[in-house]
Amino acid sequence: MRVGLGYDIHPVRPGRPLILGGVMIAHPQGLEGHSDADALVHAVCDALLGAMGEGDLGAQYPSSDSRFKDMNSLSMLKAVGAKLAQRGFRLVNLDSVILAEAPRMGPYLAEMEIRMAEVLGVDPSLVNVKVKSGDQLGVIGRKEGIGAQAVCLIESL
Ligand SMILES: [Zn+2]
Repeated sequence: MRVGLGYDIHPVRPGRPLILGGVMIAHPQGLEGHSDADALVHAVCDALLGAMGEGDLGAQYPSSDSRFKDMNSLSMLKAVGAKLAQRGFRLVNLDSVILAEAPRMGPYLAEMEIRMAEVLGVDPSLVNVKVKSGDQLGVIGRKEGIGAQAVCLIESL
């Protein structure tokens, strides 16, 4: 059994789409980044890569490479899931938390779990997504950024 940890944060910008866990969230502001800036999927990818001892997402999808501009992050997660299977690992479970002051994410969490589980080819019961506000403190609380943390457990088949 191996454990992995992932973290990510992106700046909030007006006019950008807000996509988290592969789900488009209705909000006038979104996240800036080279890809679609899905901080949750990026944190999840880093947790899985970390558990495998495969470095991080930045090494696999460098922001200097124009091929990855506005890329759908679920395709990165799919590639990471394929690597997991190829290395002979199975996901035991995955837990995560979105760090965001706004908008209210509650209604979207189940869909994020289903979307990411589908891409990873696992039962949605193995994937958990929570949300935590910044209590008006720091970059999260001032709505300057939205972050995410993820932890996963994988086992060798
Ligand atoms: Zn990111």
